Amino acid sequence: MPSTQPHDSSADKTPHSRRSGPSTGGASGGFPPPSAPLSTRELGPSTTAVHAGEARLKFGFSITDPIFAASTYTFSDTQSIVDFIEQKHPREEYGRYGNPGEKVVEEKLAGLDGGAAAVLFSTGMAAFVGLLMAHVNAGEEIIFFDECYHRSREFCRKHLTRFGVGFREVATCDYDAMEAAITPRTKFIVSESPTNPHLSVVDIGRFAEIGRRRGVLTLIDATLCTPYNLRPLEAGVDFVLHSATKYLGGHNDLLAGVVVGAQDRLEPVRNLRGIMGGVNSPHNAYLLERGLKTLALRMERHNANGLAVARFLESHPRVERVLYPGLESHPYHQVAARSMRGFGGLVTFLLKDADWRQTAAVVDAVRIPRIGPSLGGVESLIEQPMVMSYWNYSPAERLKFRIPDNMIRLALGIEDAADLIADLDQALARPGA
Ligand SMILES: *Cc1c(COP(=O)(O)O)cnc(C)c1O
Repeated sequence: MPSTQPHDSSADKTPHSRRSGPSTGGASGGFPPPSAPLSTRELGPSTTAVHAGEARLKFGFSITDPIFAASTYTFSDTQSIVDFIEQKHPREEYGRYGNPGEKVVEEKLAGLDGGAAAVLFSTGMAAFVGLLMAHVNAGEEIIFFDECYHRSREFCRKHLTRFGVGFREVATCDYDAMEAAITPRTKFIVSESPTNPHLSVVDIGRFAEIGRRRGVLTLIDATLCTPYNLRPLEAGVDFVLHSATKYLGGHNDLLAGVVVGAQDRLEPVRNLRGIMGGVNSPHNAYLLERGLKTLALRMERHNANGLAVARFLESHPRVERVLYPGLESHPYHQVAARSMRGFGGLVTFLLKDADWRQTAAVVDAVRIPRIGPSLGGVESLIEQPMVMSYWNYSPAERLKFRIPDNMIRLALGIEDAADLIADLDQALARPGA
């Protein structure tokens, strides 16, 4: 029997992250001489989004990154395989360990969040699952603030518990309850900020401090604030997670997710991704790279539209209450105002004296926002959470989740605020609506 090939045994010991790197090289034809990407850690969010991770000269001398539609990458000869395994030449090997487009996006996202490293996944949920599977062991437990994304909590409640990992929830922003719930088994405390659809804003510094003092890892799902409005790593949390499907991609045309944090803590996450899969196709990575370039411009508009529409709704006689962290009436306005650059495009409001059908009539009467789930894209979206996400729950359960029948959630896009306001005005004026 032939013995095992040398590269088979060493492959398992080599972290995938070190096995790959920029795939342009050489100095003739379409291959420009290698050029170091701009160091962007100290640059602003727009410059970072546009330039981070990109070589100054690219394949074919193209200004944009090429899409390498490859599942595998080839070697010139056996010696070059050995050199690669011995980490003499970082390069690509096989598509499940990542692709050049993903690496560019990871550099941009690490730079935007002020983290040392980022690992990109095919969806936000794949990122969440990958992070926890890489770090949590049987016998440990995870504690959530209870307004976190319901699928994240569902994964822990229904699936991680099957592997002996405990799951608990405490009321959102109840820091004393969070601290009291921590036991020697606790591995992670997790929150989202702002939460969806209630827009509760976590004091990230306080949250991070609990984790540090009690020796547990902290994770913030910052999908709704984006690194443009807030950078949780600077406030001391260990990991930031984004569903890049939302504002980061920004055009309602892709799914992706990312975890950002320290290099050594992301190494196991990257290794697990290389085994589990959940990577982005090169085409998807390019779409995200392209979307990211306008993040700062888009966020300025989402922030402006959010505030303008929230103020309009708050002054409207048919509206009982508006939830938007930029409004002084919002319970978390103070913490939001001192920590966030802007408050985003999500606005939740309650109609006065409306049952679920009258509320649905307003949703059905708008002409610009499309009716649908999700948020963060250029197109505005509208939905009634009771119907879209909580239809299968009993009224008592909806009460517990604070999802009344008269609640509407607007995910504002980048259209003109005056048009959005005029549209909502006509929808609220419809008889029967
Ligand atoms: C959408 C969303 C997710 C899940 O992301 P996918 O890309 O849909 O998997 C996680 N957290 C928050 C806050 C979200 O809005």
